[in-house]
Amino acid sequence: MLRPPVIAKTPHDLRVPPNPALGWEAARRALSGLPGGGFNIAYEAVDRHAAGARAAYPAIRWLAAAGADRVITYAELSALSNRFASLLRGLGIAKGDVVFVLCGRIPELYAAVLGALKLGAVASPLFSAFGPEPLKTRVNLGGGKVLVTTESLYQRKVKKITAEMPTLRHVLRVDTDAGRAQIAAAAETPRIERTTAEDPAFVHFTSGTTGMPKGALHVHGALVAHYATAAVALDLHPDDVFWCTADPGWVTGTSYGIVAPLAHGVTSIVDEAEFDAERWYRILREQQVTVWYTAPTAIRMLMKAAVTPPPLPKLRLIASVGEPLNPEAVWWGKEALGLPIHDNWWQTETGGIMIANTPAMDIKPGSMGKPLPGVEAAIVEKGGDGVSVIEAPNVEGELALRPGWPSMFRAYLGQEERYRKCFVGGWYLTGDLARRDADGYFWFVGRADDVIKSAGHLIGPFEVESALMEHPAVAEAGVIGKPDPVVGEVVKAFVSLKKGFEENEALRSEILAHARKRLGAAVAPKEIAFAPGLPRTRSGKIMRRLLKARELGLPEGDTSTLEEAA
Ligand code: ATP
Ligand code: MG
Repeated sequence: MLRPPVIAKTPHDLRVPPNPALGWEAARRALSGLPGGGFNIAYEAVDRHAAGARAAYPAIRWLAAAGADRVITYAELSALSNRFASLLRGLGIAKGDVVFVLCGRIPELYAAVLGALKLGAVASPLFSAFGPEPLKTRVNLGGGKVLVTTESLYQRKVKKITAEMPTLRHVLRVDTDAGRAQIAAAAETPRIERTTAEDPAFVHFTSGTTGMPKGALHVHGALVAHYATAAVALDLHPDDVFWCTADPGWVTGTSYGIVAPLAHGVTSIVDEAEFDAERWYRILREQQVTVWYTAPTAIRMLMKAAVTPPPLPKLRLIASVGEPLNPEAVWWGKEALGLPIHDNWWQTETGGIMIANTPAMDIKPGSMGKPLPGVEAAIVEKGGDGVSVIEAPNVEGELALRPGWPSMFRAYLGQEERYRKCFVGGWYLTGDLARRDADGYFWFVGRADDVIKSAGHLIGPFEVESALMEHPAVAEAGVIGKPDPVVGEVVKAFVSLKKGFEENEALRSEILAHARKRLGAAVAPKEIAFAPGLPRTRSGKIMRRLLKARELGLPEGDTSTLEEAA
């Protein structure tokens, strides 16, 4: 289907952010700071609301996978996180110690993370589907002193590796009788450590899409960026019902699943259960979600599911992050849900949204949008021992950011040299390739590692995948470069089909012909293989390096974040 290149913003159903130019300074002013000096994320997110007009307002509406749902007010979240802070303090945990939390999306996870922050400890939520090996690696890399978990996760994953985590002093099981008694006995009185904006607050692990996951260290002051970007890119307002579908084990699920919405005093939906199309539509409708932040993989699964979306009259903004969002998906949002999907770009390292199609902008489907206020982004080229900025529009190069935004990572745990190498000539190099158009919109080309060099052309897998997805039979596509003696690399595509389509030669030729017509022979895949599903990280990203390793019969490398095929 031929579609226009721009979806115009719809001002009539848009509420203009409180301050459309909200940069870091304005966000800093909107936050309180600790009474008497200092800055602590948990205070900004919870306690200042609990001490004010929002005390009895729902902070979290928790939807249980089974059993009764719960509403947790700001006052209750404040009290429960105080208990966790007291309990951890009683275990000897002090400022700077690392507290790992492996709980699944239950209220205790949120309280434990916030409690750790109140103590000045460094919180690291871990994804509950990780097996023992990846858990051990992360706890050891962070030098974790405490692991907060549940009885079932303890029995299944933690018990057998406790002896191999030498820094770990305590494992706290929140749902055993003993654990419950400890929490109940812990003091509820607030005592927030006087942290500063530069004190460490979180360790987040990257998704492991390109290799071994890295541990990125973030500071309390990062909240300034979470707050500002949640206003500008997610348009959060006090009466919003906000649903961030990411697990807190990934940076999105913490920055925008815990702290940003709380800092804005809004109500967040937390769903304990895993993805299910019908359930998700029901949540959007019944919970009257107004702002929904999700990921391309979830959107593609909804597109693939044979479930008709219900009317969603309360929903006013959908945003997505984590992978390139194919134009097809942006349009699907508009046509199936009544709202286009606003893509935005950031990384574990950036801690918060950097580039976005904000609700105040026209959307260019396929583009990541423009840098947010306060963010300076450029397309650069490496050369000699520095970088030069490419000023001309539409030229591909590496996406770089000017260091200094508040949520910039401060270290890669245990990898000082690697951290230092990210910064060249006054820029932070992201490892992603992109281009900027004449209107200032940024377009993702591919990860530096994934870009295909074929007969002198640089081919971004995203462009090819997006074109393949326009074919009505294609649900998902992953594209790699396959070594070729003549042209360097040829483009090979792995394609999974929508329900109701059958893998056969006729369809393969049809998809090939479609791609050639759309992309030209030089860029279109030479080979297409049908695959029932594509390998992806647990955060939902297509692992092209694994498609490639498997194709070439090479070692698979680190697969700790690989989602087992369903
Ligand atoms: P690793 O660094 O371990 O290989 P990762 O880069 O996938 O894993 P994250 O920090 O979770 O770990 O993901 C950030 C990356 O995800 C970005 O660098 C980019 O490649 C991709 N990404 C995120 N959002 C977008 C987007 N809107 N469009 C295109 N790519 C995106
Ligand atoms: Mg990365």
